[in-house]
Order: sequence, then structure tokens, then C-alpha cells
Amino acid sequence: MAWQITNRCACRCQHCCEESGPERGWKRELSRDEAVRVAREAGELGIPYAAFGGGEPLGIPHVWDVFETLVSGGALLKIETDGLSIDERALARLKELKPASIQISLDGATAEVHEALRPGSRFQDVAKAIENLAAAGLEPEAVFIPTKLNIAQAPRAYELAASLGARVFATGPLMRLGRAALAWERLAPSEAEWASCVAALEETRHKLGGFPKLSVYPWDILTEMRTRLESPQAMILVVPDGKVKLLNALPFAIADLREEPLAAAWEKAKAAWGSTEVRDFIRRAQTDRALLRHANECWSLSSR
Ligand code: SF4
Repeated sequence: MAWQITNRCACRCQHCCEESGPERGWKRELSRDEAVRVAREAGELGIPYAAFGGGEPLGIPHVWDVFETLVSGGALLKIETDGLSIDERALARLKELKPASIQISLDGATAEVHEALRPGSRFQDVAKAIENLAAAGLEPEAVFIPTKLNIAQAPRAYELAASLGARVFATGPLMRLGRAALAWERLAPSEAEWASCVAALEETRHKLGGFPKLSVYPWDILTEMRTRLESPQAMILVVPDGKVKLLNALPFAIADLREEPLAAAWEKAKAAWGSTEVRDFIRRAQTDRALLRHANECWSLSSR
């Protein structure tokens, strides 16, 4: 399961897929007790992997209870974080949880470029967080999202990630969602620019001797939607108020964990991939890009 436990975070990244930010918490985000109950149900269902993304999961005090409940239920954790709140105590707790993956965004090789794209972030603190996680044996992964503003620095950012001890340098095409969709003309690199960025990263990988591993996500959001429609992934996305979606790009709330157990949501997710509304939305979005601007909404599915 993917779990967006809050939509609040310290940054206002220009390309944020979730349109998160300091004032962007949702009104009715799940309480501690509700979130822990969902985590307990995940263990009962045997969910093997829980991935936490933005807003900032580590900004929610009860997220640690949620993590511990998931891990004691047998799940591995993936945590996507801005890295700004990883102090000594957080490091110690993370070591106990043994997450499978901790990802921190590093959107440039210089403070000027990283912070221009990610207002509210602090380049030096991000670098320090990656270094501290590596020193603690937590094998952090640096994530680089390419835009017109930072794509020229991708190889240098990869080298920087290597010098900080990251295990992986992860990147992929900019996803046309959230604020990235709203500023697409200004931010999105051309296909040729992205292709030459990947080639330059491959050269850097060779120069670095293959470490950190270079991980390039293979497709954009439209291909992702088409591919998932043909072969749905065994995954649900829980958004901050407990609604359940199939993918962040699909604005359908297929279940509500405030009203029903996780097991029921899974059954609805399986059925929803075959629904006419979902299929039709994916088909129309291939040519009508305006539909992607609804990614962070929760429409009710009439066939629910
Ligand atoms: S990309 Fe991450 S850090 Fe930036 S605004 Fe979105 S959730 Fe916050």
C-alpha cells in the first residue's frame, strides 16, 4: 500500500505532484487512533510493503506509531521524506524499524538550484541528512526530479549523492500531476532533453563505477495509467482523510477507511480497475491533458 498520511510539509516545491505545503494539510486527516487501526488491519491482511510519501510523513507525530504497527505486522517500509526533520532521535527510531527504503529529494547539485525548485527546503540540511542516514547504515536513496530548472545539474547531483553515501540515485520523467501539471510549459523538459539527461547519467554511472545504483523510472504518467489499466498493480493508495484511490493520477475515491475495513477496500480496488468510469477516464486522459489536473481530487465512483 501507498499511504499519504498528510498533505502538509515544510516546502512548496514547484513540481509537487500532491500540491503539498505548509498550509495544505487536509481538514479531516486520519487521527492517530484511526491511522493505527488501518496499520493493524494491514498486518492482518498480510500487506508486505507500505510506502509513505508526501506531504511530509515525518512531520506527523503519530506516524511512528503507524510505522511500528506496520512493522510488527510484518510489513517493510518505504519512507519518502524531505529529510529536514531527521535528528538523532529520528535516526535511532529509523534504525529500529529497518526500512527497506528511505528516499530524500535532491533536486540539484547546488543550493541555488535545489532551493529554487523546492522553496522551504534547505540544501545543506538535505545533504547532511543523506550523509547521516548513510553513516547510520540506513542506505538512503537520493531522488532527482528533472525540470527545465535543474536538468543540467543531474550528473553533478548524482556525483554529489555518491559523495554523501547514497545507495541509489533515483530519477524519472517529470510527472504531469499537481503543481507540475499547472506549470507544465514552464517546467517540463522536452523529450530530447530528458533523453540526453539519461545518457549523461549513464556516463556518470560508468564514471562512478556503478555506485550509487542509477534507477530511472521507465515511463511518464500517461504510460503508467495505460499500463496499470492493462495490468493493475496489487496496490492501493490511502490519502490523508482515509479515502482509498487506485493511483494518485486517478481522482476516484473507491473506499473510505473511516467507514469500512481495509479488507473491503481491497475488494473494491480490484473491482474498480474494471469499472467503466476508470477505464474511460484513462482513455480520455491520453488526449485531454486537462484531466490530469484533477489528480488530487477524490470523486465518488458511481459504481462503488
Ligand atoms: S515535493 Fe515533497 S517536499 Fe515538496 S512540496 Fe511536495 S510533498 Fe512537500
